[in-house]
Amino acid sequence: MDASNPQSEALAPLAFNDLAAQQDRIKDRIDAAIADVLARGQYILGPQVAELEGALAKFCGATHCVACANGTDALSLVLMAEDIGAGDAVFVPSFTFVATAEAVSGRGATPVFVDIDAATYNMDDASLGRAIDAAKTAGLRPRMVIAVDLYGQPADYETLGAVALENGLTLVADAAQSFGATMGGKGVGALADYTTTSFFPAKPLGCYGDGGAIFTEDGTKADILRSLRFHGKGRHKYENVRVGLNSRLDTLQAAILLVKLDIFADEIAARQEIATRYGEILRGVETPVVAPSATSVWAQYTVRLPESIDRETVQTACGKAGVPTVVYYPIPLHQQPAYAQHPCDPAGLGRSEEAAARVLSLPMHPYLTPEIQTRVAQTLAAALQEPA
Ligand SMILES: *Cc1c(COP(=O)(O)O)cnc(C)c1O
Repeated sequence: MDASNPQSEALAPLAFNDLAAQQDRIKDRIDAAIADVLARGQYILGPQVAELEGALAKFCGATHCVACANGTDALSLVLMAEDIGAGDAVFVPSFTFVATAEAVSGRGATPVFVDIDAATYNMDDASLGRAIDAAKTAGLRPRMVIAVDLYGQPADYETLGAVALENGLTLVADAAQSFGATMGGKGVGALADYTTTSFFPAKPLGCYGDGGAIFTEDGTKADILRSLRFHGKGRHKYENVRVGLNSRLDTLQAAILLVKLDIFADEIAARQEIATRYGEILRGVETPVVAPSATSVWAQYTVRLPESIDRETVQTACGKAGVPTVVYYPIPLHQQPAYAQHPCDPAGLGRSEEAAARVLSLPMHPYLTPEIQTRVAQTLAAALQEPA
């Protein structure tokens, strides 16, 4: 390519998630926040951690927030707080990031895979009911359901909560992708018994490393979680009253998140505008469906390709034109070698398998311009017309 040709400059590869654009906006404040941490020297559980916990709880309307090292640990800590282990069944969607099931297996419990709703990609309540029966038949104790808010949209907690209540299960929201979203006017963080989230850099609210948090209304459980994240500490750090983890959020990351939280509501509004515009201009694909009572934070903008289309061919054509695309997730967990032995909804997980075969995520971040969106839409339309 000729670099002096303005045409080739216009076709420079796009960012899938442009964290540099965000950094440009807040660089001075981030630098000041980091300098403040260095000046105080309290690198572990410094004052910024408690300040962030308070600010996050307030943002989403939860009572308690306990920060921890990452979103996977957040799930492990919840499983530990509920004493879940060998012989216990924990119901998880098959169409999710592996961490949801990994945390369960890591505690020695059994993940039981549930299918999704075809429109929202979130856990289906009828499938959950069948999976509970299957777990009992397999001799497991049903204990917990971990719903996932895939791509940034909350699962249907009202319906899932009714099934959980009926069966005596603890309801957990894996909100690694959805912090900042709402359902029925309530914030993610206040929709389940526990909500876990992640501050991995690419999540809607991300730090500059690993980070996570847990939300709950239960003060006793919040205290247990604070103990568990600090080696099971008791009244002081050298009294150990339970077996815990080393899973604290770094003060540096808390300070960075406090700056990012300041612009988060504005970024969520921008994501919504961008998602609406994508919905208007994309052709030849099924665009995302958000339940009428919900809002999404659009962690991903994920379309479904027609069945007749070869996804790899589309991805290659888009990639050549500088438009990155990603498949979240190509293999449902019940088909993963490390998880295939676990029980599933006996009716099968056909909707998870179909989604895994046909979804495609497009560039999405709060700094996407209308011009770039038009380029994405035109590139995708052109790619779809290519012979498979
Ligand atoms: C990112 C993610 C996690 C794990 O978060 P980490 O902070 O990377 O450990 C868990 N569940 C889902 C659905 C995720 O997207």
